[in-house]
Amino acid sequence: MSDVLVLGGGIVALLSALELTERGASVTIVEGDQPPASWAGGGILSPLYAWRHSSLLNQLTFDGVDRYRRLVGMLESDGYAPPGGLLNLNGMWVQGDEKERERALRWASEWGLNCEAQSSDGLSGRMMAKGLEGVFFPGLGNVRNPGLLKALRACLLARGVKNHKARISDIRRQGRNVIFLAEDGRQWRADKTVVGMGAGTGALLEKLGVQLPLFPAKGEMLLYQLSPGDVSSVLLTEAGYLIPRNDGAVLVGSTLRKGDASFYPTVSGRYRLERLAQTLMPELEKARPAYHWAGVRPGSDRDYPFIGAVPGADGVYVATGHYRNGLVAAPATAELLAQVLCGVAPSIDPSGYSLPSSSRSSSSFLRR
Ligand SMILES: Cc1cc2nc3c(=O)[nH]c(=O)nc-3n(C[C@H](O)[C@H](O)[C@H](O)COP(=O)(O)OP(=O)(O)OC[C@H]3O[C@@H](n4cnc5c(N)ncnc54)[C@H](O)[C@@H]3O)c2cc1C
Repeated sequence: MSDVLVLGGGIVALLSALELTERGASVTIVEGDQPPASWAGGGILSPLYAWRHSSLLNQLTFDGVDRYRRLVGMLESDGYAPPGGLLNLNGMWVQGDEKERERALRWASEWGLNCEAQSSDGLSGRMMAKGLEGVFFPGLGNVRNPGLLKALRACLLARGVKNHKARISDIRRQGRNVIFLAEDGRQWRADKTVVGMGAGTGALLEKLGVQLPLFPAKGEMLLYQLSPGDVSSVLLTEAGYLIPRNDGAVLVGSTLRKGDASFYPTVSGRYRLERLAQTLMPELEKARPAYHWAGVRPGSDRDYPFIGAVPGADGVYVATGHYRNGLVAAPATAELLAQVLCGVAPSIDPSGYSLPSSSRSSSSFLRR
């Protein structure tokens, strides 16, 4: 298989690179210096209230835990990650009234996931809010995404993937090919290119004459360093969530600001999240958060990502618009993208995720 250029260094780009190397491709990654949402995110391995989402999203996410088990197993056994740190699969509890609980139970049986109605009183976490009604998914959990990205990078490097730091700012056409130009003057071209630049993807696609309903969506998080077992499982309510890591760290999230592409945490974000933390962990009292950060999600008007060839730009493929679900959806996304790119039979029908040909604007790149 020929060379593939992968633009971006978040979970979608890194897992796409991994899938492509597994299919024999020689891969070069070019990534900018913007912190990936994949670092900032919480790593819950389920969409929030998954039953409210489309089948096209659920198809990419329902087996996210199994996919991460295999991936993390490989990273640990090959020595890229210390054992036991990346996955926390102690379940996910979701608050909901009777109607919501019935919907969740129906959805779980449809997608083959274990789920039971359970009050939050039954959760073992010492700090977690009591007296709430909801459902519990014993097989779900979260992945520690910053550590995962680090392990993935080490794995890709060992497999010969080249990595360049550069911000891609423009494109040029040469015959049927597209050349990608960096701000510092460097340029890259390959037989095939994957654009997986998260919230930065829309602007580059516009230069290719393609317009998708994408937008940045800033989110902030807090981390409290507590003790293992204080929060036993992911706890999700309409107001926000708690995510326990194996070492006792607990993430509280998240804020959502559509249209905001800034990476800095705010005083108002911290205030909101501290209030949320006290509601979800009433015994928290005077504990202060150890960290506060922000990230920019690749938002989209539809609840499932764009995956596939860019109409009118030979050899250019895209995977973006994962919004709030990019970590859980990334393994299935990367597999599908690699299958489409390599021309092998895809394991799921790719047509629903493809870029509509109507996304090509009248000032089309090809007509320039
Ligand atoms: C607060 C928060 C909580 C979240 N919680 C969860 C969760 O619990 N579960 C879940 O599944 N998802 C969650 N998400 C969403 C998830 O993080 C994203 O959907 C996912 O990380 C998107 O991955 P990506 O690879 O497409 O983009 P990113 O991770 O943003 O990566 C984009 C990459 O492209 C690079 N780039 C951008 N522009 C350029 C350019 N011009 N040139 C070169 N490189 C460029 C960036 O530097 C970066 O490396 C959360 C997000 C946030 C912010």
